[in-house]
Amino acid sequence: MQTQFHELPAASAGTTRRLRSLHFGRAETGRKAYLQAALHADEVPPMLVAQALAERLAALDTAGAIAGEIVLVPMANPIGLAQDLQGTAFGRFDLATGVNFNRQFRHLTPALAPLVEPLLCADADANTRTIRAASRGLLAAWQPATETEALKRLLQTLAMDADLVLDLHCDNQAVVHLYTGTPQADAFAPLAGYLGAQALLHSEVSGDEPFDEAAARIWWELAERFAGRFAVDPLACLAATVELRGETEVSQELAEHDADALVAFLRFGGHIAGTPPPVPPACAATPLEGVEPVTALTSGIVVFAKAPGDWVEAGEPVAEIVDPLTDVRTALLASVSGRCFARTARRYATRGMRLMKIAGATAYRSGKLLSL
Ligand SMILES: [Zn+2]
Repeated sequence: MQTQFHELPAASAGTTRRLRSLHFGRAETGRKAYLQAALHADEVPPMLVAQALAERLAALDTAGAIAGEIVLVPMANPIGLAQDLQGTAFGRFDLATGVNFNRQFRHLTPALAPLVEPLLCADADANTRTIRAASRGLLAAWQPATETEALKRLLQTLAMDADLVLDLHCDNQAVVHLYTGTPQADAFAPLAGYLGAQALLHSEVSGDEPFDEAAARIWWELAERFAGRFAVDPLACLAATVELRGETEVSQELAEHDADALVAFLRFGGHIAGTPPPVPPACAATPLEGVEPVTALTSGIVVFAKAPGDWVEAGEPVAEIVDPLTDVRTALLASVSGRCFARTARRYATRGMRLMKIAGATAYRSGKLLSL
């Protein structure tokens, strides 16, 4: 294993921040998996999972069992991690700009297409290498204006040439669930099975360029653009956001379970030598456009009737809102049937607040599909 430290450009005089990438196996083969934890810095469960995963990967590396390279960033966001506001962790948004740390990565397709067009050929592997080299050049040319942009460029560069990218997060209160691109939803069914995920959500474009999508969508977009002319593998980079339950579900037992599941999936994908364990049955993949973000229609105290993991029928009450000014109680009803996979940790709602997510099977939303 090799450890690299990456220093970010100081946002202010007298400060420096750095992060660490762990490199297991050998880079020469070109085969690569990339995993990072806690891009949303207040999401602690993935950071402990990364500890357990690093131990396993180090042992596998010593045994010569890592095929190619596996890169792990156990703490992906030192900027957000330091944003502690009078006792409350604030790791989701950059305080300087208000921008979500998992948005506004570079969408490279528009710049890549004209750059690679004269270089592509009939050999899909050669085209993968060409597109990765061009992506590297585009990211190298990105002049970050801020410390946060420099972080985003660094993370995207570390992941850009990987065959598999897993961005490890968690929700407020949740069961394990995954987000990925529609063309690769099937490819992540085994990971959903190993992790025991209860929702596998997919979309072509979820909006605002989250990390996993920036890594993966260039491939199916370029494959579509050059269809019939050049061979481009639409799945050259499989990428997913993995939500490891709720924000306080930090335990050694869960971390070991999740690290074992990730190792099983890495083995399934050929990143680790050996036979993978049998894949447990996975939840069905459902469109992100089918997720109902149950929204508070009035303000008040939130009393949930459903918890993450519960099945919900359309028309069933999922929560009651109690107005402390008028004593009026308002039932919130689900409008779709599906698995409740996440809910807010707050128990007072302002009007319009999103309280719960239900994975409906039928697409009905459009536009920007992710929460803020
Ligand atoms: Zn997150």
